[in-house]
Amino acid sequence: QLVLAIESSCDETAVAIINAEGNMLANQVSTQIDFHARFGGVVPEIASRKHVEVIVGVVDAALEEAAEAMGLDAPIAPTELAAVGVTQGPGLVGALVVGVAFAKGLAAGAGCPLICVNHLEGHLYANLLAQPDLEPPFIFTLVSGGHTMLVHVKAWGDYEVLGETLDDAVGEAFDKVAKALGLGYPGGPIISKLAETGNPRAIDFPRALNRRGDYRFSLSGLKTAVVSYIEHETAAGNTIHLPDLAASFEAAVFDVQYKKAKGALHETGCREYCIGGGVSANPHLRRMMIQKLGRQGIRVTVPPLNACTDNAAMIAEVARRKFKEGDFASFDVDADPNMTL
Ligand code: ATP
Ligand code: MG
Ligand code: FE
Repeated sequence: QLVLAIESSCDETAVAIINAEGNMLANQVSTQIDFHARFGGVVPEIASRKHVEVIVGVVDAALEEAAEAMGLDAPIAPTELAAVGVTQGPGLVGALVVGVAFAKGLAAGAGCPLICVNHLEGHLYANLLAQPDLEPPFIFTLVSGGHTMLVHVKAWGDYEVLGETLDDAVGEAFDKVAKALGLGYPGGPIISKLAETGNPRAIDFPRALNRRGDYRFSLSGLKTAVVSYIEHETAAGNTIHLPDLAASFEAAVFDVQYKKAKGALHETGCREYCIGGGVSANPHLRRMMIQKLGRQGIRVTVPPLNACTDNAAMIAEVARRKFKEGDFASFDVDADPNMTL
Protein backbone atom coordinates (compact mmCIF):
# COMPACT_ATOMS: atom_id res chain seq x y z
CA GLN A 1 0.00 0.00 0.00
CA LEU A 2 1.85 3.00 -1.35
CA VAL A 3 1.18 6.59 -0.36
CA LEU A 4 2.58 9.32 -2.60
CA ALA A 5 3.00 12.77 -1.05
CA ILE A 6 3.53 16.17 -2.66
CA GLU A 7 5.08 19.25 -1.01
CA SER A 8 5.03 22.64 -2.77
CA SER A 9 4.48 25.20 0.00
CA CYS A 10 7.52 27.37 -0.71
CA ASP A 11 10.44 26.96 -3.09
CA GLU A 12 10.90 23.19 -3.11
CA THR A 13 8.86 20.89 -5.34
CA ALA A 14 9.10 17.57 -3.57
CA VAL A 15 7.51 14.14 -3.96
CA ALA A 16 7.98 11.08 -1.76
CA ILE A 17 6.50 7.59 -1.76
CA ILE A 18 6.18 5.58 1.44
CA ASN A 19 4.78 2.11 2.08
CA ALA A 20 2.47 1.03 4.90
CA GLU A 21 5.41 -0.08 7.07
CA GLY A 22 7.00 3.36 6.81
CA ASN A 23 9.77 2.54 4.35
CA MET A 24 10.61 5.56 2.22
CA LEU A 25 10.75 4.19 -1.34
CA ALA A 26 11.23 7.53 -3.08
CA ASN A 27 12.27 10.97 -1.92
CA GLN A 28 12.65 13.56 -4.68
CA VAL A 29 13.34 17.25 -4.04
CA SER A 30 13.67 19.83 -6.79
CA THR A 31 14.80 23.11 -5.28
CA GLN A 32 14.37 26.52 -6.88
CA ILE A 33 17.02 28.18 -4.71
CA ASP A 34 19.11 29.30 -7.69
CA PHE A 35 16.17 31.16 -9.23
CA HIS A 36 15.46 33.09 -6.02
CA ALA A 37 19.02 33.62 -4.75
CA ARG A 38 19.68 36.70 -6.89
CA PHE A 39 16.63 38.39 -5.31
CA GLY A 40 17.84 37.55 -1.80
CA GLY A 41 14.67 35.66 -0.94
CA VAL A 42 11.76 33.69 -2.37
CA VAL A 43 9.75 35.52 -5.06
CA PRO A 44 6.20 34.07 -4.85
CA GLU A 45 5.34 34.47 -8.53
CA ILE A 46 8.53 32.70 -9.62
CA ALA A 47 7.88 29.94 -7.07
CA SER A 48 4.40 29.14 -8.45
CA ARG A 49 5.61 29.08 -12.05
CA LYS A 50 8.54 26.81 -11.26
CA HIS A 51 6.27 24.36 -9.41
CA VAL A 52 4.05 24.16 -12.49
CA GLU A 53 7.09 23.57 -14.72
CA VAL A 54 8.65 20.75 -12.72
CA ILE A 55 5.88 18.95 -10.85
CA VAL A 56 5.14 16.34 -13.52
CA GLY A 57 8.83 15.48 -13.82
CA VAL A 58 9.30 15.22 -10.05
CA VAL A 59 6.27 12.92 -9.69
CA ASP A 60 7.55 10.73 -12.55
CA ALA A 61 11.00 10.57 -10.99
CA ALA A 62 9.46 9.46 -7.67
CA LEU A 63 7.37 6.75 -9.38
CA GLU A 64 10.55 5.47 -11.05
CA GLU A 65 12.64 5.65 -7.89
CA ALA A 66 10.03 3.68 -5.94
CA ALA A 67 9.86 1.00 -8.65
CA GLU A 68 13.62 0.66 -8.52
CA ALA A 69 13.55 0.38 -4.72
CA MET A 70 10.97 -2.40 -5.06
CA GLY A 71 12.97 -4.21 -7.75
CA LEU A 72 10.40 -3.61 -10.52
CA ASP A 73 11.40 -2.86 -14.13
CA ALA A 74 8.51 -0.50 -14.93
CA PRO A 75 7.67 2.68 -12.97
CA ILE A 76 4.81 2.45 -10.47
CA ALA A 77 1.52 3.32 -12.19
CA PRO A 78 -0.64 5.93 -10.42
CA THR A 79 -3.45 3.35 -10.26
CA GLU A 80 -1.24 1.33 -7.88
CA LEU A 81 -1.24 4.15 -5.30
CA ALA A 82 -3.33 3.67 -2.18
CA ALA A 83 -3.57 7.43 -1.50
CA VAL A 84 -2.16 10.80 -2.49
CA GLY A 85 -1.10 13.18 0.26
CA VAL A 86 -0.39 16.87 -0.19
CA THR A 87 0.66 19.90 1.82
CA GLN A 88 -2.47 22.04 2.23
CA GLY A 89 -0.74 24.86 4.12
CA PRO A 90 0.73 27.01 5.51
CA GLY A 91 2.88 28.60 2.82
CA LEU A 92 2.66 30.72 -0.31
CA VAL A 93 -0.86 30.45 -1.68
CA GLY A 94 0.19 30.32 -5.34
CA ALA A 95 2.75 27.62 -4.59
CA LEU A 96 0.35 25.52 -2.46
CA VAL A 97 -2.37 25.68 -5.11
CA VAL A 98 -0.10 23.93 -7.63
CA GLY A 99 0.49 20.97 -5.34
CA VAL A 100 -3.13 20.72 -4.17
CA ALA A 101 -4.56 20.89 -7.70
CA PHE A 102 -2.06 18.33 -8.96
CA ALA A 103 -2.72 15.99 -6.03
CA LYS A 104 -6.49 16.14 -6.61
CA GLY A 105 -6.01 15.32 -10.28
CA LEU A 106 -3.63 12.48 -9.52
CA ALA A 107 -5.89 10.98 -6.84
CA ALA A 108 -9.01 11.34 -8.99
CA GLY A 109 -7.26 9.73 -11.95
CA ALA A 110 -5.90 6.92 -9.79
CA GLY A 111 -9.24 6.42 -8.08
CA CYS A 112 -7.70 6.72 -4.61
CA PRO A 113 -8.30 8.98 -1.59
CA LEU A 114 -6.76 12.42 -1.10
CA ILE A 115 -5.07 13.29 2.21
CA CYS A 116 -4.34 16.87 3.31
CA VAL A 117 -1.27 17.52 5.43
CA ASN A 118 -0.31 20.50 7.57
CA HIS A 119 3.25 21.51 6.62
CA LEU A 120 4.14 22.32 10.25
CA GLU A 121 2.96 18.88 11.35
CA GLY A 122 5.25 17.60 8.58
CA HIS A 123 8.24 19.32 10.19
CA LEU A 124 7.28 17.64 13.49
CA TYR A 125 6.81 14.19 11.92
CA ALA A 126 10.27 14.47 10.31
CA ASN A 127 11.47 13.29 13.72
CA LEU A 128 9.65 9.98 13.23
CA LEU A 129 11.92 9.29 10.26
CA ALA A 130 14.84 9.25 12.72
CA GLN A 131 13.07 7.85 15.78
CA PRO A 132 9.97 5.76 14.88
CA ASP A 133 9.12 5.17 18.54
CA LEU A 134 8.83 8.87 19.40
CA GLU A 135 5.61 9.14 21.43
CA PRO A 136 3.85 12.09 23.10
CA PRO A 137 3.91 13.74 25.50
CA PHE A 138 7.01 15.71 24.54
CA ILE A 139 8.27 19.23 23.85
CA PHE A 140 8.88 20.26 20.23
CA THR A 141 10.74 23.30 18.95
CA LEU A 142 9.87 24.37 15.41
CA VAL A 143 12.53 26.63 13.89
CA SER A 144 11.99 27.26 10.20
CA GLY A 145 11.99 30.03 7.61
CA GLY A 146 8.52 31.22 8.57
CA HIS A 147 7.93 29.90 12.11
CA THR A 148 9.45 29.81 15.57
CA MET A 149 7.33 27.91 18.07
CA LEU A 150 7.71 26.03 21.30
CA VAL A 151 5.04 23.34 21.43
CA HIS A 152 3.81 20.91 24.06
CA VAL A 153 2.73 17.86 22.05
CA LYS A 154 0.28 16.17 24.43
CA ALA A 155 -0.85 13.55 21.94
CA TRP A 156 -0.56 13.22 18.16
CA GLY A 157 -2.76 16.05 16.88
CA ASP A 158 -3.12 17.65 20.32
CA TYR A 159 -0.78 20.62 20.37
CA GLU A 160 -0.41 23.35 22.93
CA VAL A 161 1.66 26.17 21.47
CA LEU A 162 3.51 27.52 24.51
CA GLY A 163 5.07 30.45 22.67
CA GLU A 164 5.83 31.88 19.26
CA THR A 165 7.97 34.62 17.81
CA LEU A 166 6.65 38.15 18.11
CA ASP A 167 8.50 39.23 14.95
CA ASP A 168 11.02 37.38 12.76
CA ALA A 169 11.35 33.61 12.58
CA VAL A 170 14.75 32.10 13.41
CA GLY A 171 15.43 31.02 9.81
CA GLU A 172 14.39 34.47 8.64
CA ALA A 173 16.91 36.05 11.04
CA PHE A 174 19.69 33.84 9.59
CA ASP A 175 18.63 34.91 6.09
CA LYS A 176 18.53 38.61 6.99
CA VAL A 177 21.92 38.57 8.71
CA ALA A 178 23.51 36.80 5.73
CA LYS A 179 21.89 39.35 3.43
CA ALA A 180 23.24 42.26 5.52
CA LEU A 181 26.71 40.76 5.16
CA GLY A 182 26.24 40.27 1.41
CA LEU A 183 26.77 36.53 1.78
CA GLY A 184 23.86 35.20 -0.29
CA TYR A 185 20.67 33.18 0.17
CA PRO A 186 19.63 31.13 2.06
CA GLY A 187 21.64 32.39 5.00
CA GLY A 188 21.34 29.42 7.37
CA PRO A 189 23.85 27.07 5.76
CA ILE A 190 26.29 29.95 5.04
CA ILE A 191 26.24 31.31 8.60
CA SER A 192 26.48 27.86 10.15
CA LYS A 193 29.54 27.00 7.99
CA LEU A 194 31.25 30.26 9.03
CA ALA A 195 30.38 29.70 12.69
CA GLU A 196 32.30 26.42 12.80
CA THR A 197 35.63 28.18 13.25
CA GLY A 198 34.36 31.22 15.17
CA ASN A 199 34.34 32.12 18.85
CA PRO A 200 30.75 32.23 20.16
CA ARG A 201 31.82 34.55 23.01
CA ALA A 202 33.57 37.10 20.76
CA ILE A 203 30.60 39.49 20.56
CA ASP A 204 27.92 39.80 23.22
CA PHE A 205 24.68 40.04 21.22
CA PRO A 206 21.35 40.51 23.05
CA ARG A 207 19.25 37.54 24.16
CA ALA A 208 15.63 38.70 23.93
CA LEU A 209 12.80 37.74 26.33
CA ASN A 210 15.25 35.50 28.14
CA ARG A 211 13.12 35.18 31.26
CA ARG A 212 11.93 32.10 33.04
CA GLY A 213 8.39 31.06 32.19
CA ASP A 214 8.22 33.31 29.14
CA TYR A 215 8.00 31.16 26.02
CA ARG A 216 7.70 33.97 23.49
CA PHE A 217 10.58 34.74 21.14
CA SER A 218 11.81 37.93 19.50
CA LEU A 219 14.54 37.98 16.85
CA SER A 220 14.30 41.42 15.30
CA GLY A 221 16.31 43.16 18.04
CA LEU A 222 19.15 40.69 17.56
CA LYS A 223 19.07 41.21 13.81
CA THR A 224 19.24 44.99 14.35
CA ALA A 225 22.13 44.56 16.79
CA VAL A 226 24.05 42.55 14.20
CA VAL A 227 23.39 45.12 11.48
CA SER A 228 24.47 47.97 13.82
CA TYR A 229 27.62 46.06 14.71
CA ILE A 230 28.48 45.64 11.02
CA GLU A 231 27.85 49.36 10.32
CA HIS A 232 29.82 50.46 13.36
CA GLU A 233 32.85 48.29 12.60
CA THR A 234 32.80 49.23 8.92
CA ALA A 235 32.62 52.97 9.76
CA ALA A 236 35.53 52.56 12.18
CA GLY A 237 37.59 50.98 9.40
CA ASN A 238 37.79 47.60 11.17
CA THR A 239 37.53 44.36 9.24
CA ILE A 240 34.77 42.11 10.49
CA HIS A 241 35.81 38.66 11.59
CA LEU A 242 32.99 36.72 9.96
CA PRO A 243 33.41 33.43 11.83
CA ASP A 244 33.29 35.22 15.20
CA LEU A 245 30.27 37.24 14.13
CA ALA A 246 28.47 34.11 12.87
CA ALA A 247 29.30 32.07 15.98
CA SER A 248 28.25 34.89 18.33
CA PHE A 249 24.98 35.37 16.44
CA GLU A 250 24.23 31.65 16.62
CA ALA A 251 25.04 31.59 20.33
CA ALA A 252 22.58 34.42 20.98
CA VAL A 253 19.83 32.61 19.06
CA PHE A 254 20.45 29.13 20.42
CA ASP A 255 21.07 30.06 24.07
CA VAL A 256 17.52 31.37 24.16
CA GLN A 257 16.17 28.30 22.36
CA TYR A 258 17.89 26.03 24.86
CA LYS A 259 16.77 27.95 27.91
CA LYS A 260 13.11 28.00 26.85
CA ALA A 261 13.10 24.35 25.81
CA LYS A 262 14.60 23.40 29.16
CA GLY A 263 12.03 25.53 30.98
CA ALA A 264 9.13 23.93 29.08
CA LEU A 265 10.46 20.42 29.75
CA HIS A 266 10.77 21.24 33.41
CA GLU A 267 7.34 22.84 33.70
CA THR A 268 5.47 20.08 31.84
CA GLY A 269 7.52 17.21 33.26
CA CYS A 270 8.14 15.86 29.76
CA ARG A 271 11.24 13.65 29.41
CA GLU A 272 11.36 13.75 25.64
CA TYR A 273 12.29 16.55 23.23
CA CYS A 274 12.59 17.06 19.46
CA ILE A 275 13.19 19.84 16.94
CA GLY A 276 12.19 20.50 13.34
CA GLY A 277 12.24 22.98 10.46
CA GLY A 278 15.15 24.16 8.32
CA VAL A 279 17.16 25.54 11.24
CA SER A 280 17.14 22.11 12.91
CA ALA A 281 19.78 21.17 10.30
CA ASN A 282 22.17 23.46 12.18
CA PRO A 283 24.96 21.37 13.76
CA HIS A 284 25.48 23.79 16.63
CA LEU A 285 21.79 23.67 17.62
CA ARG A 286 21.59 19.88 17.25
CA ARG A 287 24.73 19.33 19.34
CA MET A 288 23.65 21.77 22.03
CA MET A 289 20.24 20.16 22.56
CA ILE A 290 21.53 16.57 22.35
CA GLN A 291 24.36 17.21 24.81
CA LYS A 292 22.89 19.68 27.30
CA LEU A 293 19.39 18.20 27.53
CA GLY A 294 20.79 14.69 27.23
CA ARG A 295 22.87 15.30 30.35
CA GLN A 296 19.62 16.00 32.21
CA GLY A 297 18.17 12.65 31.21
CA ILE A 298 15.98 14.02 28.40
CA ARG A 299 15.77 11.87 25.27
CA VAL A 300 16.48 14.21 22.35
CA THR A 301 15.47 13.40 18.77
CA VAL A 302 16.55 15.40 15.73
CA PRO A 303 15.28 14.81 12.17
CA PRO A 304 17.59 13.24 9.57
CA LEU A 305 19.63 16.06 7.97
CA ASN A 306 17.78 15.79 4.64
CA ALA A 307 14.39 16.05 6.37
CA CYS A 308 14.98 19.40 8.12
CA THR A 309 14.43 21.83 5.24
CA ASP A 310 11.35 21.32 3.10
CA ASN A 311 10.89 17.81 1.75
CA ALA A 312 8.04 15.42 0.96
CA ALA A 313 9.29 12.52 3.09
CA MET A 314 7.95 14.22 6.21
CA ILE A 315 4.63 14.91 4.44
CA ALA A 316 4.49 11.25 3.38
CA GLU A 317 4.96 10.13 6.99
CA VAL A 318 1.99 12.26 8.13
CA ALA A 319 -0.08 11.03 5.18
CA ARG A 320 0.79 7.39 5.89
CA ARG A 321 -0.52 7.70 9.45
CA LYS A 322 -3.65 9.55 8.33
CA PHE A 323 -4.22 6.84 5.72
CA LYS A 324 -4.22 4.18 8.44
CA GLU A 325 -6.83 6.17 10.32
CA GLY A 326 -8.93 6.75 7.21
CA ASP A 327 -8.53 10.49 7.63
CA PHE A 328 -9.28 11.52 4.03
CA ALA A 329 -9.99 14.93 2.51
CA SER A 330 -12.85 15.93 0.29
CA PHE A 331 -11.97 16.74 -3.33
CA ASP A 332 -13.26 20.29 -2.94
CA VAL A 333 -10.63 21.33 -0.37
CA ASP A 334 -8.55 24.40 -1.08
CA ALA A 335 -5.00 25.33 -0.20
CA ASP A 336 -4.93 27.11 3.18
CA PRO A 337 -1.96 29.50 3.35
CA ASN A 338 -2.63 30.43 6.99
CA MET A 339 -2.88 27.01 8.63
CA THR A 340 -1.32 26.72 12.07
CA LEU A 341 -0.66 23.88 14.49
P1 ATP B 1 7.96 27.23 7.14
O1 ATP B 1 8.29 25.81 7.31
O2 ATP B 1 7.92 28.00 8.40
O3 ATP B 1 6.76 27.44 6.29
P2 ATP B 1 10.06 27.27 5.18
O4 ATP B 1 9.40 26.03 4.75
O5 ATP B 1 10.38 28.30 4.17
O6 ATP B 1 9.18 27.92 6.34
P3 ATP B 1 12.22 25.59 5.98
O7 ATP B 1 12.44 25.01 4.62
O8 ATP B 1 11.72 24.70 7.03
O9 ATP B 1 11.38 26.94 5.95
O10 ATP B 1 13.60 26.21 6.45
C1 ATP B 1 14.29 27.14 5.67
C2 ATP B 1 15.08 28.00 6.60
O11 ATP B 1 16.06 27.19 7.27
C3 ATP B 1 15.84 29.13 5.93
O12 ATP B 1 15.56 30.32 6.62
C4 ATP B 1 17.30 28.71 6.07
O13 ATP B 1 18.19 29.81 6.18
C5 ATP B 1 17.27 27.90 7.35
N1 ATP B 1 18.38 26.95 7.45
C6 ATP B 1 18.69 25.94 6.60
N2 ATP B 1 19.82 25.31 6.99
C7 ATP B 1 20.24 25.95 8.13
C8 ATP B 1 21.34 25.80 9.02
N3 ATP B 1 22.28 24.86 8.82
N4 ATP B 1 21.43 26.64 10.08
C9 ATP B 1 20.50 27.58 10.29
N5 ATP B 1 19.46 27.79 9.49
C10 ATP B 1 19.31 26.99 8.43
MG1 MG C 1 12.89 26.30 0.99
FE1 FE D 1 9.07 24.38 5.97
